[in-house]
Amino acid sequence: MAVMPQEPADQPLFTALAAHGVSAMPPATAARDGESRALTRALFNGAVRSLPLAVVPCADEAAIRTVLRLATDHGTSVAVCAGGHDLSGRSFNPENLVLDLGSLNNTHVDPACDEVTLGGGALTRDLLAALPEDRVTATGTVLTVGMTGATLGGGYGRLTPGFGLSADCLVRARVVLADGSVVVASEAEDADLLWALRGGGTGFGVVTAMTMALHTLPRVLSAMILYPLSEAGSLLLAAQDLIDRHPDALSLFTGFMTAPTGDVMLFVAPMWWGDGPAGERVVDDLTRRPGAFVLETGWRPYRATFSEESEKAWPKGRYYHLPTRTVRRIDGHVAEILVAGARGMTSPNSAIVLHDFHGVPTRIASGATAFPLREDHFVVEIIAAWDDPTAELAADGLRHRAWADDLSGALASVSIPGGYVNLLPPDEAERVRLFYGPSADRLRATKRRVDPHDLFRSAIGRLPAAR
Ligand SMILES: Cc1cc2nc3c(=O)[nH]c(=O)nc-3n(C[C@H](O)[C@H](O)[C@H](O)COP(=O)(O)OP(=O)(O)OC[C@H]3O[C@@H](n4cnc5c(N)ncnc54)[C@H](O)[C@@H]3O)c2cc1C
Repeated sequence: MAVMPQEPADQPLFTALAAHGVSAMPPATAARDGESRALTRALFNGAVRSLPLAVVPCADEAAIRTVLRLATDHGTSVAVCAGGHDLSGRSFNPENLVLDLGSLNNTHVDPACDEVTLGGGALTRDLLAALPEDRVTATGTVLTVGMTGATLGGGYGRLTPGFGLSADCLVRARVVLADGSVVVASEAEDADLLWALRGGGTGFGVVTAMTMALHTLPRVLSAMILYPLSEAGSLLLAAQDLIDRHPDALSLFTGFMTAPTGDVMLFVAPMWWGDGPAGERVVDDLTRRPGAFVLETGWRPYRATFSEESEKAWPKGRYYHLPTRTVRRIDGHVAEILVAGARGMTSPNSAIVLHDFHGVPTRIASGATAFPLREDHFVVEIIAAWDDPTAELAADGLRHRAWADDLSGALASVSIPGGYVNLLPPDEAERVRLFYGPSADRLRATKRRVDPHDLFRSAIGRLPAAR
């Protein structure tokens, strides 16, 4: 194991790590600067400037246990980095020893093809590559996102209306707790911890493996259609109408982005897994709407709906600022706010993305998992993105941030209190509390049991103390 210190090392801790076979890199300035740049690039959001105390690549549970024990002995907090997509980059808090699980990305499909087991560092890409072509589980929309990180906070994706959140597909998990003990959280063993891991945030331990349920789904009908902004308001209402008519068989990943022509356009990306002719009628209806520009449409295996090419829209290291809101429905007023926001977009790299939640996961009881929001809704991601590092703190960066904050402010009065914890920054703890609502007390009790000294204190979904 190599330790990469960013600041003059806490000597006793680094000496102890070295004594346990964890070799610390000398904190020579040149080496440190070189590593700083490398580590900054490892995080998705280039706007995150903080660097952790050190990063420790961990390939197995023995290494994780050693680091947890020594961190506890030396009073240092610990965080995990897997896909590096936390927009707030909170693992890279300067106090943290970071466990880099990047190499723990093994995947295994059971012989009956009912379940897939993933290493704690596996990305969406690793999962999809391992699956038989006719099997699916609920993933997010981007190949490079860590599966465990997404699942622990919820995990919205294009299959959510038919198969639930990633958290709803979690069957069991192997977890190294703060005290170094290894537990399996399942319905049979530590059901309480499993409940918390299903959307309750990331502060409960280091997940070294998680098993997800697989569903048989040989093909989906998917499309990507662009529309001019002049048609966007009526299209958004039509999208809501289609969702109301086909809540279990259709997802409509929707939003605004800048097309290659330089125009901001509405995109609608339907995915259908129900009865074939009915789905074709839905997609046909969308492709015949005024102004429709069809980029792609067709039946294909779920994993073929991802492409490395489309990932290029979200490069690592770009500057991102991403407020979010959660709305129940798209009505005329919400559509008007969204279209006005799209018209005011300040950067061609920015976007607005809506994740739709309806159908099957709304019939899971609110208290059955830690993720309590079980009514129909859309998570609205307002993604300000720009490339120029000199713009970050200058007027240009502030302009892009202001665009996103203004749109978020305009949506506030029509939004559900709370928000999607995976995308809420640490200073929005009150929205985390409002989101968890009835789950909060049980989450706090589970956290006290498995991490009594708050070793994982920069977790996603961290709840403020009870009032
Ligand atoms: C481009 C992009 C696309 C996204 N798309 C979606 C989407 O479609 N759907 C959706 O729901 N969300 C999406 N997200 C949000 C994403 O789910 C969260 O940011 C998630 O936390 C990322 O996990 P990670 O491993 O990539 O990030 P990291 O920053 O490495 O980790 C995020 C958090 O998870 C914890 N963690 C990671 N692995 C483990 C583990 N094995 N054990 C314990 N804790 C762990 C970390 O400690 C940290 O708190 C997206 C984010 C980005 C930037």
